[in-house]
Amino acid sequence: MFNSKKHKVIINKYRLDVISADTAFYEFLADTRFYFSFDRLVHEDDRAKFIRNVEAGYQDWFVVHIVELDGTPIPCYAKLQDVSASDNVEITLLDIEMLRESEKLLDKRSVVNEAIHGLYGDDAFVYYPNRDEVEIITGTGAHTSCQRMSLSQLQKNLEQVTEDSNAISEFISGLRNGSRYLFIKVDGSVKNVKSDTRHSIIKCAGLYENGTYTMAVGYIHEYMERTYSDTRKIEIDSLTGLLAKGEITNMVIRTVDVEKRQDVTLAIVDIDHFKQVNDQFGHMTGDNIIRQVASVLADEVGDDGLVGRIGGDEFMILFYDAYDLESARPRLRSIKNTICGLFPPDVPGQPTVTLSIGCAAYPKDAANYEELFALADFALYRAKEKGRNRYIIYSKELHGDISAIKNSSHSQTRINNRGDMSQGEILCVIMDKVARREDYPVERLLDDYLENFEIARIAVYDRAAGKVLHMAGQKVPSKEVIAETEQYILSEYWKNLYKNSEAVINDIFSIAPIDETVYQLMKNQGLSACLQVPFNDRKGHPCVLSFEAVNNKRYVWNTERLHYFRLMAKTLSEYTLV
Ligand code: GH3
Ligand code: MG
Repeated sequence: MFNSKKHKVIINKYRLDVISADTAFYEFLADTRFYFSFDRLVHEDDRAKFIRNVEAGYQDWFVVHIVELDGTPIPCYAKLQDVSASDNVEITLLDIEMLRESEKLLDKRSVVNEAIHGLYGDDAFVYYPNRDEVEIITGTGAHTSCQRMSLSQLQKNLEQVTEDSNAISEFISGLRNGSRYLFIKVDGSVKNVKSDTRHSIIKCAGLYENGTYTMAVGYIHEYMERTYSDTRKIEIDSLTGLLAKGEITNMVIRTVDVEKRQDVTLAIVDIDHFKQVNDQFGHMTGDNIIRQVASVLADEVGDDGLVGRIGGDEFMILFYDAYDLESARPRLRSIKNTICGLFPPDVPGQPTVTLSIGCAAYPKDAANYEELFALADFALYRAKEKGRNRYIIYSKELHGDISAIKNSSHSQTRINNRGDMSQGEILCVIMDKVARREDYPVERLLDDYLENFEIARIAVYDRAAGKVLHMAGQKVPSKEVIAETEQYILSEYWKNLYKNSEAVINDIFSIAPIDETVYQLMKNQGLSACLQVPFNDRKGHPCVLSFEAVNNKRYVWNTERLHYFRLMAKTLSEYTLV
């Protein structure tokens, strides 16, 4: 299953390897095809054409078949676009089958959004043609109540509150036949004709799946006076097409404080050093970057949440529908990697763009919107402080209590509120979490290490098979380049180096005279220095925890702190990794 109508994949134009892709595309690849270069995903009949188009810089849409794991070809439209000043090409893929439905999907999205978020304080309205039944749903999550009635009952209710029989029969037959847009305005309540509601409106749209009318979805708005304007438009930010600040803020407040929707995650995203980018490349380029960042965020969030622009270079995302923090994490990672692929670092004459992101969850961390925002904002502030180009997910244990954070402004005091924990203390907190076997996946553990210790990149390798098990932090190389690790982890040089204690390499150049191949392989991964600690995982499987310096900076590991690195490896031996 392709799982999404649209994908964005960035590949290297010469090697054709996948540099980055949206989460859904990676899911489509699954583990088995993670390392494939892109042409191997193209059906063999189209492969030559595809490669030709990449080489020729073909700019128009063309049809290409992407193959499923079992070989089934999926017809897609593809469009290629050079990524400025790099050897990368961005491929936009549209699933042709799903595209046919996309117009309706768009309707579905806006109508459902309106209904669910109760922009007008409404109840959701759903009609099922197969049961000929209407559902009126009030509230969300645990607070939901549902009133069911037959369509003929609804008709009777309508007849009691309006005399406009034409409007009624048009509405009822529209529901039966699956009209695209349906609207009726009556002088009383549809749910309860005896209530003192003066007016109500029902607005809904027919939805189709694979050409079959499956339901109509919309909302009922009841009100007392005629002050309501049904022409109210959702306010959109003109530069990016995202929700405008007031709009997204209201929607999030509504979702959290009014509907008390469970398991939502709020993320605040800010472009790093954007003033500098403007100064150096001009406002036009700046605006373009804002637009591109917005489009990456919108693509990544899709229908699973809301995205708005809340400041010049600042965005807000609400992930909903059972998205807890751990399911937000791969999204955040994908956003970060896609931006990195679009604006790669260190390209002379081209802007480098990175993002800092702060996140918090409701109701896990915060009791209301105000707290949720304060925590996500605090996490963003920490991400900036920790060197930018990262996401930080708020954690009470590591960042301190909400009350301390709320009472402080973005000032130095904020850091101190955290009690100014030493690295040793932080390590204790983390080890405690691991020992208590909390819901604390290894990805999160590595992110916490990245945040709290000055480490650019961190990786876990399977020492027997030479496979990369986890990698996080800056400049995570493409899957294919990562796969080269296998060769050096298994090299004689490396095996001799450990002898079951750490390998400390301050400058990988020192390896060159001893083993040129190993040196080249490591260099390909963007490594400049590394410290590797061997350990066995929970099942006794030999692994290596690798702390890596990137960015060609000279680096000297502080060997007096080796026990910290050993402790970090020890925490990992609590996990079954292979
Ligand atoms: P930091 O990493 O701390 O976020 O640094 P920064 O330079 O990004 O600082 P900050 O977020 O405070 O500044 C945002 C800058 O974004 C200020 C302004 O120059 C720029 N900016 C704000 N709105 C727009 C816009 O609509 N277009 C452009 N091109 N630039 C904008
Ligand atoms: Mg900024």
